[in-house]
Amino acid sequence: MATAVPGADCLFCKILAGEIPSVEVASSESAYAFRDIAPRAPSHVLVVPRRHLEDAAELGPADGPLLAGLFSLANEVARKEGLVSGYRLVFNVGDDAGNSVPHLHLHVLGGRVMAWPPG
Ligand code: AMP
Repeated sequence: MATAVPGADCLFCKILAGEIPSVEVASSESAYAFRDIAPRAPSHVLVVPRRHLEDAAELGPADGPLLAGLFSLANEVARKEGLVSGYRLVFNVGDDAGNSVPHLHLHVLGGRVMAWPPG
């Protein structure tokens, strides 16, 4: 079930509201892209929907436009960051994947060769 009301304690909602600083990379009507505070690659950008959802497990058939908005902005990020030789897109879901911020976010990682499978 999608959570429509931003949580008062949601870190990324506060970033979206400008209450917590962030370094913008790209922006659209439905999504915002900013630099990860603890980058795991030379280029590490988070793309978040302006609407609050906890994680990818909340997504359903009605969220196609929201996802298209996220991936369109991620494409713009990759272009702006010059990730011409490739990059990785990641959604972490739940504790086993190491999800630490409960606001849906797409990691855009690039600028180095990625290992597979991820650790
Ligand atoms: P995840 O582990 O998938 O939930 O990713 C959350 C990401 O948010 C991590 O890579 C953190 O480094 C990043 N992060 C946490 N706080 C901030 C912040 N204030 N600004 C930018 N990125 C952050």
